[in-house]
Amino acid sequence: MEKRGGTPSPSPRSTEKSGKDLTRSGDANGGAGAGGNATPKGDKEKGVNVQVILRCRPLSDDETKGNTPVVISCNERRREVAATQVIANKQIDRTFAFDKVFGPSSKQKDLFEQSISPIVHEVLEGYNCTIFAYGQTGTGKTYTMEGGGTRKAKSGELPTDAGVIPRSVRQIFDILEAQCAEYSMKVTFLELYNEEITDLLAPDEPRFPVLPVPEDKNKKPIALMEDGKGGVFVRGLEEEVVYSAGEIYKILDKGSAKRRTAETLLNKQSSRSHSIFSITIHIKELTHESEEMIKIGKLNLVDLAGSENISRSGARDGRAREAGEINKSLLTLGRVINALVEHSGHVPYRDSKLTRLLRDSLGGKTKTCIIATISPSVYCLEETLSTLDYAHRAKNIRNKPEVNQKMMKSAVIKDLYSEIDRLKQEVFAAREKNGIYIPRERYLQEEAEKKAMTEKIEKLGVDLEARDKQLVELKELYDAQMLLSAELGEKLEKTQKDLEDTRHALHDLEEKYSEAKSTIKEKEFVIFNLQNSEKSLVDCAYNLRAELENAAADVSGLFSKIERKDKIEDGNRSLVQRFRSQLTQELDALHKTVSTSVMQQEDHLKEMEDDMQSFVSSKDEAAQGLKESIQNLKALHGSGITALDNLAGEIDMNSQTTFEKLNSQVQSHTSDLEKCFGVIALGADNLLNELQCSLSKQEERLAHFANKQREGHLRAVEASRSISNITVGFFHSLDVHASKLTSILEETQGVQDQQLIDLEKKFEVIPNDNYYIQYAVNKLI
Ligand code: ADP
Ligand code: MG
Repeated sequence: MEKRGGTPSPSPRSTEKSGKDLTRSGDANGGAGAGGNATPKGDKEKGVNVQVILRCRPLSDDETKGNTPVVISCNERRREVAATQVIANKQIDRTFAFDKVFGPSSKQKDLFEQSISPIVHEVLEGYNCTIFAYGQTGTGKTYTMEGGGTRKAKSGELPTDAGVIPRSVRQIFDILEAQCAEYSMKVTFLELYNEEITDLLAPDEPRFPVLPVPEDKNKKPIALMEDGKGGVFVRGLEEEVVYSAGEIYKILDKGSAKRRTAETLLNKQSSRSHSIFSITIHIKELTHESEEMIKIGKLNLVDLAGSENISRSGARDGRAREAGEINKSLLTLGRVINALVEHSGHVPYRDSKLTRLLRDSLGGKTKTCIIATISPSVYCLEETLSTLDYAHRAKNIRNKPEVNQKMMKSAVIKDLYSEIDRLKQEVFAAREKNGIYIPRERYLQEEAEKKAMTEKIEKLGVDLEARDKQLVELKELYDAQMLLSAELGEKLEKTQKDLEDTRHALHDLEEKYSEAKSTIKEKEFVIFNLQNSEKSLVDCAYNLRAELENAAADVSGLFSKIERKDKIEDGNRSLVQRFRSQLTQELDALHKTVSTSVMQQEDHLKEMEDDMQSFVSSKDEAAQGLKESIQNLKALHGSGITALDNLAGEIDMNSQTTFEKLNSQVQSHTSDLEKCFGVIALGADNLLNELQCSLSKQEERLAHFANKQREGHLRAVEASRSISNITVGFFHSLDVHASKLTSILEETQGVQDQQLIDLEKKFEVIPNDNYYIQYAVNKLI
């Protein structure tokens, strides 16, 4: 196939051509799989999911300067995006998985090579492919699709920030050149704003400067036409043939320039408009039978309006029709996606121009990829989450991609030839004027009629379009109303249910209320009691406080007392010290006194011994005297006996005469004896008196000594105790002495008694009948 091209013109032919192209792609229905080598059979039956790529842009310089918090984290390896949300001081992380994830540091080149390059290959295989950029304004849709601002790069190289469009064009050229294939590439670039299509590649200048063109007609609105076979085509859309990758920037700049003018005029229109850049490639192929075939592939690159317009339109919809229209396409796109995901029967493609244009890309035979763009900033979080939800939902759309039917080259040439023929005939007729000839008046009349007819037709067409529009509007309204009524019905049901629930709840609440009331009463009673007890507690507390204060005073007094006591104890200690020293002194003195008293006692004992010796000697003397007197008495008694014997003889002879004598003698003897006994008794009495005297003296001394001892005892109890022991011992020894003395006395007495008994016995020898002797002896005793 030859490369076609030349001056682009908005001629009806080019319109027809594009219509044909679209029709063809629509026609591909029946001829599925003619060259479908890229699609496995299973895919055809089940379909292929829409591929969803997520791209997060880096923070802008301003955002970085302003320390904007980042709430998005991308995990490219796991193909996950996490959004951190803080609700009521709770951190909630939401994670979304996509087919591919490109973080803020990702490069244009990486995105293209990893995700778009395979799609370009499929386009070259004869598929129709569509790439959408979806996201909030300012998240990088245009950056991703077209690229940054850099236009020039080193000799033929693309700048690093080149977007998907230039890279795709470049790749197509590279591949086809490498294959030395025969091909042609044409592009169209249109904008959809407020449900009106604008050709961004149409020449600005009016073709006939003679006819004045109004300012607002500069951007000619173009109609979307049904091709009658389920497809649509854009009438009068300019197709630009591209011969090299370098040209693409001219085309983009041309389109962007148009958009920019519009932007200033129409208040940031670009964020509310969709732009569709389409690349159509015709490639010549040879079949096995050496037949030449034409393979057709189409790539649509769609830069959608800012997704924030969906939510915002919600508030305005109905109020301002225009505002509604602006976002109608985006809204319908959402509805179409929902319908496709939920497999609901009716998919509202026809509700907006965007969905009509891209019908085949959504649930059709086109391979579709959505690039969702987000910002990492916290201030965009709400929009980011809605984008993530939207994109995640779109993942479930299934398309059934099919390769476009290839056309025989001969058929294409035939088409072209017939067109050339027709053109030739026109030219020939014009030049040779050998067509039908009619008179000038008739011609003029016919022309006027024709013009009128055309005008009428145009008017009718416009009318029809208006009616169509009205119909669509009415249908929309009807749908909306139905939706509303369904919603209202649901709401009513829900409300009734709620009412029932509320009634139950009210009943429960009433019960609870009465319960609560009684509880409150109880509680009040309890509170009353509590208050009383609190009062009494407060009183108690006051009393306790007063007592505590007293106690504190007492304690301080106690402390002072303790202090004083300590002082006194100190004094006592020193006193005890002093007392101890005094005691030792006094004990020393006592010791001395005791030793002196022991010496004295020893002296006393010596004296007593001496006394006892003298007493014994005097006693001996007395005993001697007594012996002597007893001897005398014996002698006297012997003589008496002899005398008595003599007397008895005499008595025998004359008892009467001698009796008197005897009597006198006895009397004298008796008196002698009496005298003698008196002397002895006196001596003994004296002795005893002396003894008594010495004893009493001794006792006196002892008493004196005891007194002294008692005084000492007062000074020191222990010493006194020992002294008393000594005294007791002394007394004991004294007692022993006394008892000894008493026993000596008793012995003496016994000796005396014995002597007397002996004497008595001796007297008993005297005849019993001697009454007088007996009487005398008794008297003696
Ligand atoms: P949109 O088309 O979604 O409204 P733009 O493409 O106009 O957003 O991007 C807004 C700004 O952010 C532009 O200045 C663009 O250069 C910049 N930008 C967007 N994405 C990136 C990116 N991935 N890397 C660097 N800059 C970016
Ligand atoms: Mg943009």
